[in-house]
Amino acid sequence: MPNTFDAIVIGSGQSGPFLAVRMAAAGKRVAIIERHRIGGTCVNTGCIPTKTLVASAYAAHLARRAAEFGVDVAGTVSVDMKRVKARKDEISGKSRAGLESWLRSTANCSVYLGHARFESPNEVRVGDELLTAPQIFINVGARATIPEMPGVADTPYLTNSTLLDLEALPQHLVIVGGGAVGLEFAQIFRRFGSDVTVIEKSPRFMHQEDEDVSKEIQAILEREGIHVRLNAHCIALMKHGEEVGVRVDCSEGAPEARGSHILLAMGRTPNTSDLGLEKAGVDRDAHGYIVVDHQLRTNVRGIWALGDCNGRGGFTHTSYNDFEIVAANLLDHDTRSVSDRIKAYNLYIDPPLGRCGMTERDARTSGRRVLIGARPMTRVGRAIEKGESQGFMKVLVDADSKEILGAAILGTGGDEVIHCILDMMYARAPYTVLQRAMHIHPTVSELIPTILGELQPL
Ligand SMILES: Cc1cc2nc3c(=O)[nH]c(=O)nc-3n(C[C@H](O)[C@H](O)[C@H](O)COP(=O)(O)OP(=O)(O)OC[C@H]3O[C@@H](n4cnc5c(N)ncnc54)[C@H](O)[C@@H]3O)c2cc1C
Repeated sequence: MPNTFDAIVIGSGQSGPFLAVRMAAAGKRVAIIERHRIGGTCVNTGCIPTKTLVASAYAAHLARRAAEFGVDVAGTVSVDMKRVKARKDEISGKSRAGLESWLRSTANCSVYLGHARFESPNEVRVGDELLTAPQIFINVGARATIPEMPGVADTPYLTNSTLLDLEALPQHLVIVGGGAVGLEFAQIFRRFGSDVTVIEKSPRFMHQEDEDVSKEIQAILEREGIHVRLNAHCIALMKHGEEVGVRVDCSEGAPEARGSHILLAMGRTPNTSDLGLEKAGVDRDAHGYIVVDHQLRTNVRGIWALGDCNGRGGFTHTSYNDFEIVAANLLDHDTRSVSDRIKAYNLYIDPPLGRCGMTERDARTSGRRVLIGARPMTRVGRAIEKGESQGFMKVLVDADSKEILGAAILGTGGDEVIHCILDMMYARAPYTVLQRAMHIHPTVSELIPTILGELQPL
C-alpha cells in the first residue's frame, strides 16, 4: 500500500523546503524527498560556499593592498586553503543543518532520503517506498554540464562541486567557461595565489551582457593577472603527465593552455532525465527543462515544476520566487505569475555587477524611445574613498512612460545598489521619483538620482 500524502515535494532546493513547510502549516500532509544533501546547490555547492570563498579572497586581496591604505601587514600574504575550506564548510554546514532540522521538526512534514522517480502522475517511488499524492512539486535543480568533447573521458577535471573539496591550492587552474560560475572562481583562485586562465568560446565574457560591461569585467580580471583566451572554437581536454591541458585552437595565441587543474564551468543541465517523467507524462523541452506555464504548472494536472529545472530562472532568488508564486496561487487565493518577474541577478566578482531589466542592446531593439544615464566609478566619491573605483553604472529609461527599463551597476556596492532601481521598476513609478529622492552621503546609491538627472537619448 502506498503512503498517502496531500503533497509530495521532490528535491530540497530553494523552493521545495519552503513550499513543504507552508503546505504543512496549512494542515496538509507533506512528504519531501532529497537524494543527496538537504538544501541543494545553493547551500552545498553554489551560492553559500562560493560567497564564503569570495569573502576569503577579498580579505587576501585587501591584505596585499594594505600599504595603499597606510596599513602595514608584516610578511607576504598567503592563504591557508584548509582553513578557508573549514570556514566554508562550517557556514554551509550550519545552513544545511538549520534547514534539515526545520523540515524534520515541522508537524505534518515527512523527510525521505533517496532518489525519487515517478511511477505514475500521482505516485513517486523512493527506495522501497511508494508515495502517492494529488499534488506533486518538482524542485530537482541542475548540475554542471559536461559536454561530450574530445579528451573529456580521459582527462581529470573539476566541477563547481568537486573544486570546493580541494584542500590545497591549484598551481594553475584552467577554467573552461566565461560565465558567472567560471569568472567568480577565476578571481577567487587568482586572489588565493593560483595562476588562472579562463577559456571562453564566445568573443567575450558574460555574452548576454552589453559589450562595455563584458569588456570592463575582462579588464578587471586581467588587471589581477588572470589570463584570458576568447574565441576558443575547438575545445579539447588532454593530459600531459602531471599536467593537464585544454586545446583552444584560437586564431591567435598559443594553441593550448596547460595547467595543474581544469575546471569545467560550461553551463548547467537540469536533473530531469532520471525522474520517471515519461511515466507521469510530464513534458520537457529540447534542453531537458520541464515545460511550465506562467503559474509553474506542467502539462499534467496536479504536477508543478519549480527552480532551475523549469528553465525560467537559474538563481536562488528565482527558485524562491517560484515557491512564492505557487504558494500564493494554491494557498492564498492570490493570483501570481512568473511573467510579472523582472530579470535580476548579480555577478560576484569584485567589484560586483548588479543587473536588472533590459540591457542597452535589449532597449535599442525594443522599438522604444530610450534615455540613458551613465557614470564611471572614478566619479563616485565613496568608491574613491574605498580605493575601489573600477567599473561604471548605467541606467536606461523609457522616454515616453518615464519608467526605468534596466540598469547595470558594475562597481563597489553594485550588488546592493541595484535594488533601489529594481524596486522602482516593480513600483512602475516614473524615474523622476527616484531622481528627486534624497539619498544618504557618502554612498554609491547617492549618485543614482544624479545619473537620472543627466539622461541623454540613447
Ligand atoms: C558555483 C555556483 C554559484 C552560484 N551562486 C549563486 C548566487 O550567488 N546567487 C544565486 O542566486 N544563485 C547562484 N547559483 C545558482 C543557485 O545555486 C541555484 O539556482 C539554486 O540553488 C536554485 O536551485 P533549485 O531550487 O532549482 O534546486 P537545487 O538547489 O539545485 O536543489 C535541487 C535538489 O534536488 C535534489 N534532487 C535532484 N533530483 C532528485 C531526485 N530524483 N530525487 C530526490 N532529490 C533530487 C538534488 O540533490 C538537490 O539537492 C550558483 C550556482 C553555482 C553552481
